[in-house]
Amino acid sequence: MEITEVFNHINNDIKVILKKALNSEEISAEEALKLFKVTGKEFFALQNVADKLCFLKKENIVTFIINRNINFTNICFQKCKFCSFSVPKDHRDAFLLTIEDIREKVIEAKSFGCTEVCIQGGINPELKFDSYLEILKTVKEIDSKIHTHAFSPQEIFFMSKLFDNSIENTLKELKKAGLDSIPGTAAEILVDEIRKIICPNKVSTSQWIDIITTAHNLGIPTTSTIMYGHIEKLSDRVNHLEVLRRIQKDTNGFTEFVPLPFVKANPILSNLKKFPLKPSYGMSDLKLFCVARLFLNNYIDNIQCSWVKLGPSFAQVSLNYGVNDFSGTLMEENISKSAGAEFGEYLSPEKMIEIIKTAGKHPAQRDTLYNIIKYY
Ligand code: SF4
Repeated sequence: MEITEVFNHINNDIKVILKKALNSEEISAEEALKLFKVTGKEFFALQNVADKLCFLKKENIVTFIINRNINFTNICFQKCKFCSFSVPKDHRDAFLLTIEDIREKVIEAKSFGCTEVCIQGGINPELKFDSYLEILKTVKEIDSKIHTHAFSPQEIFFMSKLFDNSIENTLKELKKAGLDSIPGTAAEILVDEIRKIICPNKVSTSQWIDIITTAHNLGIPTTSTIMYGHIEKLSDRVNHLEVLRRIQKDTNGFTEFVPLPFVKANPILSNLKKFPLKPSYGMSDLKLFCVARLFLNNYIDNIQCSWVKLGPSFAQVSLNYGVNDFSGTLMEENISKSAGAEFGEYLSPEKMIEIIKTAGKHPAQRDTLYNIIKYY
């Protein structure tokens, strides 16, 4: 079926927006908001356009990375209301990995063929700036070629206080010690009104932007994320996407965009009566992938699904909705598991290849910066 056929008998307003996107024109925030609300025939037209734009950038290739998550401490004093990973220091489940523990995990990752270790932890008052530098140096001592994707903007902010120095100088020290790229987490929703409710002690939107753009300007790429499906409005999702697009126009430092659905099983946020959670169903996840593909088109080429949060089956479906990356093998993933995500800690490369192939796509292993390592 020609893509123009899906435009037959759909709402004219939506048709105009979709045609604009197909012509590689930028869509506005108002237009993105309209797309977030489509259902029925308009929804399938949106899917067709997202899939087409994805094909134009990536053909039918869906990438994945062989990596390992290392969550080195769950002790944190930030008290984000959606988080069930963090605990206070005296909690029976509290942990802080030693450098030896981290060394073992990196050695294991290397023997498994991981090209990246993703290292993040809670904001633990026991840590010194040197503790973070030591973690980076340890990874590089084991193998200088392993990519260290480490420390959220919140951790960088905390480190700058420990180091008693600017964000720029903190990042320079981290880079010297072996930091290769930064996860664009702690973004949640980049709207202060929402942040004040769900994560009142976290960096503000402007602080997050400052840390990310400083990193980009120092040649440290980052990913970009959104945590959605809680108390935010659709307009907040649009505002968030606008912030990311603006940053990318300035710096071109984002490697990918990763939508992360809020896992509702445990967190305190689920019980906040004053700000009840909005119902969120599968189509809402798929629309976010599609709108992101259209809105970020020509700026962020890689849209990633999180199989840990969505589950491998639903993540597979998303590969037809503008998604071109299946994320990583992970080996262990404590944060989503603590929040009640049912899906495992690890997907083997073989399983990922099978999932991607049965979706009708061509699997390829990539590195953190989206260079292809191997086609399957
Ligand atoms: S989300 Fe991160 S910063 Fe917030 S409480 Fe959890 S571990 Fe701490």
